[in-house]
Amino acid sequence: MKSTSYMKHKLPPLSYNYNSLEPFIDEETMKVHHEKHHQTYTDKFNEAIKNNQELQNKKVEDILSNLNQIPQDIKQAVINHGGGFYNHNFFWTILKKDIKLKGDILKEITKTFGNFETFKEQFTKAATTLFGSGWAWLVLNENKKLEIIQTKNQDCPLSIKKIPLLAIDVWEHAYYLKYKNKRADYIEAFYNVINWDKVNELFVNAKK
Ligand code: MN
Repeated sequence: MKSTSYMKHKLPPLSYNYNSLEPFIDEETMKVHHEKHHQTYTDKFNEAIKNNQELQNKKVEDILSNLNQIPQDIKQAVINHGGGFYNHNFFWTILKKDIKLKGDILKEITKTFGNFETFKEQFTKAATTLFGSGWAWLVLNENKKLEIIQTKNQDCPLSIKKIPLLAIDVWEHAYYLKYKNKRADYIEAFYNVINWDKVNELFVNAKK
């Protein structure tokens, strides 16, 4: 077996089974997405920082929040693979079936967008219109207000001083096995698997 001197970041296990989000997100997609795609981001992130002791001692959140502290020669690799590592870590935590939107996050969504339907319309639009690969997010911005944003590739909201509360991965690998080219159907199905309890917890903590 090949020896590895540096194995800091590890693929986090899911806290639920790959089939838990059926029929909205299918078991095979979850398995490939986690075991293959997320694993690859994890490996390549570790690879990118393997010669940089300082970055190895930092949390991925800290690294992505301070991109100007990354040496130029590994910067894009860290943005891509560190971002991919973090974004997926985050994504798995906000997925769960049958969780009702309630609590402080419901009040804040209503306050910001008028009602849930308007929020959904805007979030769906952000996810639908993102050209190519990337993510749509609900974040808390620097003014502690809710905001819907898009990020390209594996760019992370932390890098533009926004705190992630909810995300949808709209890379084709997130939906192609089940939904093929129909990104809109995947986005509509996504609303059935949002863990609003987790989103609420993130919101309450971010507001502090
Ligand atoms: Mn993905």
